[in-house]
Amino acid sequence: MNLRKTRRMYCNWCKTHTIHKIIQVKGKERSALKRGSIQRAKLRGEGIGFGNKGKWGSKPAISKWKRTGKKISKKYNLQYTCEICKKTISQRRGKRAKKLELK
Ligand SMILES: [Zn+2]
Repeated sequence: MNLRKTRRMYCNWCKTHTIHKIIQVKGKERSALKRGSIQRAKLRGEGIGFGNKGKWGSKPAISKWKRTGKKISKKYNLQYTCEICKKTISQRRGKRAKKLELK
């Protein structure tokens, strides 16, 4: 999928349509001591009990289960930066694409 590097869209701070720069963001790994850490979750009493809601703990070994109907594409994650006030907003919902190119 090809997308332009800039896009004209509404800015919440400028209150008008301005040119926004588009960048693709990738997910970061969970840091050991920061807000989303497992250590912090345990202190708060989260992640205990039955099931982990897909959030906490270790992931199962791949050898024990097999993915069926595996998806080839991934959802892209974009951020829009206003060129006037330099404020950044994330996109609400990504679409599936095999490959994303910003031109
Ligand atoms: Zn703005």
